[in-house]
Amino acid sequence: MKRALVKNLPKIELHCHLDGSIRPATLQKIAAQQGISLPASENELKELLVAPEDCQDLNEYLQRFDLVLSCLQTENALQQAAFDLINQASEENIQYIEVRFAPSLHTEKGLSLAQIVTAVLAGLNQGQEQFGVKSNALLCGMRHEELDEIEQIVLLAEEYKRSGVAGFDLAGNEIDFPPYVFEETLRLVERSNIPLTLHAGECGCGKNVADAVYLGAKRIGHGIAVKDTPEYFALLQEQGTLIEMCPTSNFQTKTVTSLDDYPFQQFLDAGINVCINTDNRTVSATTLTDEFMKLHEWYGITYNDMEQLNHNAVTGAFLPEAEKQLLHERLSTDYFELIN
Ligand SMILES: [Zn+2]
Repeated sequence: MKRALVKNLPKIELHCHLDGSIRPATLQKIAAQQGISLPASENELKELLVAPEDCQDLNEYLQRFDLVLSCLQTENALQQAAFDLINQASEENIQYIEVRFAPSLHTEKGLSLAQIVTAVLAGLNQGQEQFGVKSNALLCGMRHEELDEIEQIVLLAEEYKRSGVAGFDLAGNEIDFPPYVFEETLRLVERSNIPLTLHAGECGCGKNVADAVYLGAKRIGHGIAVKDTPEYFALLQEQGTLIEMCPTSNFQTKTVTSLDDYPFQQFLDAGINVCINTDNRTVSATTLTDEFMKLHEWYGITYNDMEQLNHNAVTGAFLPEAEKQLLHERLSTDYFELIN
């Protein structure tokens, strides 16, 4: 596959964190507006924002978010960050993107949860108007927070269900807070008819992935650890669960340490649906184009494989059926035209 064509082909992304995906130059601008001083040179700034390839673990990776979050505490900053992300998506022909963020991480300067969600949605809409990239937001509850705080986020997702919030997710410390801790909360998600994706099997065990599915997740963020528990493959297959794989991030956080352990081909061979994502464009210094090129280098995937992975993403997207149909048609037409 040629990079320029991979970049031009239409793509779908379902797992992308807002706070991990702001371009350094944009962050610089947002910080300056608030009188926060960041290193002036882009290289120095990158060092603070990009996780090293040899992070010790997920926690070292997550430290890269501290500086960004300190700048994302105003409505203006959140709107610009969301707009910037849609701009990036447009530059590599992403047709539809689900952008996730945890509202509770943006309240340090007194913003209400509603103000936070409204500001992000405004940035996404502005991006859609300017660049034509359709998007929806996913709200994340942070696992280490109190259950009633997380419940507030579920209620928020319900409130904004018809105005741009497409689903709910749990992010953060998976080891100390496995899925069943949140059984009650996730029941509320189900009763409220909010589509659910859960981070699971990113650093915990394969059982977390199965439990996430039992608790109603239609999609799994990462899911890597289930590779060692093939007894759950049938469950994922039967439920049509979509695994949102994020290759670069999975190596950085030491979810896997060698290519032989990366389960991309294993999942495909087992008939499990997967799609490809960046996770965090800035923290992982990647784009969706980079992720597909990596799979090409590692596994020799073809344009047709890439098309299928994007169809998988559409099938799992938290969108009405009619909109999915249009995206499927768009992919089929454009891949046919561009690769033949
Ligand atoms: Zn993630």
